[in-house]
Amino acid sequence: MNYYTRLDENTIICDICPRHCRLKTGQSGFCKIRVNTGKSIEIPSFGHIAAINIDPVEKKPLYHFYPSSRVFSIGTYGCNMGCRFCQNYSLTKINSNPFDLKKYMPVQIVEAALMHGCKSIAFTYNDPIVFMEYAISVAKIARKNNLKTIAVSSGYMEEKPRIEFYNHIDAANIDLKGFDEKFYSKNCLAHLKPVLETIKYIRYQTNCHLELTTLLIEGENDSDSMLHKQCEWIAQNLGENTPLHFSAFHPAYKFNNKNRTSYETLKKACKIAKSYGLNYIYTGNVHSIETSTTYCKNCTKPLIVRDGFRVLEYNLDTSGNCNHCKTKCDGVFT
Ligand code: SF4
Repeated sequence: MNYYTRLDENTIICDICPRHCRLKTGQSGFCKIRVNTGKSIEIPSFGHIAAINIDPVEKKPLYHFYPSSRVFSIGTYGCNMGCRFCQNYSLTKINSNPFDLKKYMPVQIVEAALMHGCKSIAFTYNDPIVFMEYAISVAKIARKNNLKTIAVSSGYMEEKPRIEFYNHIDAANIDLKGFDEKFYSKNCLAHLKPVLETIKYIRYQTNCHLELTTLLIEGENDSDSMLHKQCEWIAQNLGENTPLHFSAFHPAYKFNNKNRTSYETLKKACKIAKSYGLNYIYTGNVHSIETSTTYCKNCTKPLIVRDGFRVLEYNLDTSGNCNHCKTKCDGVFT
C-alpha cells in the first residue's frame, strides 16, 4: 500500500512518518530516499543496499529472541530521524549516490541469508520504515522460507504504515532515545509521543517480540528524573518483563565533542530500572559479563551468560524454562 495524500498535480504529502513531508514532483523527503515521482511517493533506489553483515542476534541487540542465532542484517541509505548523536551517520545522512550501491532483489537477500545459515533477516542500520516496501517484500519471501524477520527502528511512524509493517515482523528492537519531549525535539528533530504509541502498538496489538534500547548520553538523557520516568512508564505500560538495554554512546556526528558514556552511568540506569521491578536489564557497548547476563526472575540464577555478543552459558530447557526452578524466561527461545 502507498501512504500519501495528493494535494495538487505537483504536490504530495508522504504519510509514512509524522514529518509528513510535503513534496513537489522530483523532490525527496527528509529521509532522502522517498521521492515524489509525480505518480506517488516511491523509492527510486529500491533494493540498493548500503550495508550487509552477518551478525549474532545479540548485536541488534535482541537477548530474548533465539539467542546466539545468526542474523542477516541489511540497511540502506537515509533515515527519517535527525539525531545529532547518530552512531551510524555515514549511512543515515546520505553523502553518496545510493544508485552507486549494488542492487539486490528481495529474493537474493533471502537466498543469501539461507546460504549463510541465518535464522533471521534484520532491517537495521538505518530506520527500515523509510524503505518499508522493500523490507516487506523481503519479509514475505523470508517467511515462506522459515526465516524470521527483525526490525531495529526508532518507532517514529504513523499508524497505518505501522500496522502493515509490523504484520511482517517477528521481533523488534525499538530505540527509545530518551524520555523527554525536549530531548526528542532538540536532538532528534522528532517527537516522543508517536514513538511511545508504536511501542505500545507492538506490545499489545502484534505477536512481535519487543525489546527496547536507550543510548545514554551523559548530560543529555541520563538524568535521574528522566530515567525514573522512563522506567516507570515501561513497568506500567509494557510490564516488567520487557527487556531493556542501556547502551554507551561514543562520540559521533554532531556530538563528537561529548564524552563516551561511562559504565557507572549505565549501572546507575540499571539500578533505577531495577527499582521499578524490571526483570531483564542490560548494558551495551561496554564489556561486562554481569550486566550482559539474563537472570531468572524467580530464582535469580544466571540463565544466559554473555561475554559481549558471545553466549558462554545457556541454562534454559527446550521450552525456554529455567533449568533450576522451571520458571519461564520471557521471550522466544524455541
Ligand atoms: S518517511 Fe521520509 S518522506 Fe516520508 S514523511 Fe518521513 S521523512 Fe518525510
